[in-house]
Amino acid sequence: MDSKTPGARDFWFLPLGGTGEIGMNMNLYGHSQSWLMVDCGATFQSPLEQRLDKDPHAKVYDVVAADPAFIEARRDQLCAIVLTHAHEDHIGAVTEIWPSLGCPIYATPFTAEVLRRKFYQKQRFENLPIIEVQTNQTLDIGPFTVTWLAITHSLPEPQALKITTAVGSVFHTADWKIDKQPVVGKPFDPSTFIAMQKQKILAMVCDSTNALKPGFSTSEKACEKGLGSIISRAKGRVVVSCFASNLARLITLVKIAKANGRYVALFGRSLENMVSVARRCGYWPDDLSITHSRHIGYLPPHEVLIIATGSQGEPRTGLNKLATNMHRDCELESGDTVIFSSIVIPGNEKPIEKLVNALRNREIEVYQSHACEEVIHATGHPNQGDLATMYDYVKPNIAIPTHGEAQHMQANANIAQKQGVPKQLLGSNGDLFVMAPQVQMKRKFVATSRIAISKDKDR
Ligand SMILES: [Zn+2]
Ligand SMILES: [Zn+2]
Repeated sequence: MDSKTPGARDFWFLPLGGTGEIGMNMNLYGHSQSWLMVDCGATFQSPLEQRLDKDPHAKVYDVVAADPAFIEARRDQLCAIVLTHAHEDHIGAVTEIWPSLGCPIYATPFTAEVLRRKFYQKQRFENLPIIEVQTNQTLDIGPFTVTWLAITHSLPEPQALKITTAVGSVFHTADWKIDKQPVVGKPFDPSTFIAMQKQKILAMVCDSTNALKPGFSTSEKACEKGLGSIISRAKGRVVVSCFASNLARLITLVKIAKANGRYVALFGRSLENMVSVARRCGYWPDDLSITHSRHIGYLPPHEVLIIATGSQGEPRTGLNKLATNMHRDCELESGDTVIFSSIVIPGNEKPIEKLVNALRNREIEVYQSHACEEVIHATGHPNQGDLATMYDYVKPNIAIPTHGEAQHMQANANIAQKQGVPKQLLGSNGDLFVMAPQVQMKRKFVATSRIAISKDKDR
């Protein structure tokens, strides 16, 4: 056995992507000559080196992923890929990377449906070893016992995982927030996490995205009131841009449109795909209808609500075409309203500003969440209050912040320490977090890098 293979007394965490950065999550857990991969995601418009992330002159690639070379070389030791939820930074590289791994893929039905469509786009229909699991299910996968735990985030069926081995258990939060009214799916249930106190969790591997933000995250339900009040006041057409994966937001918008006598059209393939997945998985309310985009241009402005992709200023998206008056189905006019039901993802400030200016120059009213009194967007990640609460529930021995840049992970570790978590391990991609038998870090255990992969058609 080489020094990079875990033994029967070892329990290791080895992130290849997504720790020290936000995006392209690829995590490995190691125990007893076996590995379990948790998530296999992508990052968009990025260079192939992390150190160039903020360099405006670096060559960027459409889609990049963590280099899986380490685990490809040990594919006989890889038991499975477990997917926590259907966001691109968690599943966006599966169709490209899975063929060289060939292992089973575990996902809940919604995530599995999103993934199958990605494989179909790549013309792969047969022999996909996707195993559908239900929330609260527990399965043995090699020497790992995995329990899928319902948590709340910003799309259907987000899962946290409890991963148990002969030498201890890890609580892998994946992306989460405390949401008592998530609109789609069940409310956050503390009992699941409080029960972990008795189970003596070795380590909590936790989302750090919003660890610099004080207070608690806003509930998805709060958007209903904020969006509702702006849309009910609007005189002309309303365009709302949001992330296609946020099904709760889409449902909220179609309900508001219905209450205000507006017809809804979707401008963007990823939105159409999401509604189709939601219908198939039973999440789309039967009484909410969508109008074909071709018909929307013939309706009076006050009867129109368009949901469009492109909230980050991306070219060739629904919102961009509307802003530049290049959309074949609709032309905006002065007096119309555009709502960004989204955040500005760091790095996208310039293209978004350009888009906003183009709209305002045409006397179109623009609302952005950071400059708006009403709640028109809710994050999917835990603020400091959410994090403190979760550490207090679970009481792990070690906090392992992940899903963040160094400053976010440091802030997360500080919260853990304040809540009395005895140890915090801070590291980044390629570092080995040894949770058992002796808690320690092995820096640069694996050389990590990024690879460019091909684009999905519906992006
Ligand atoms: Zn994520
Ligand atoms: Zn997510």
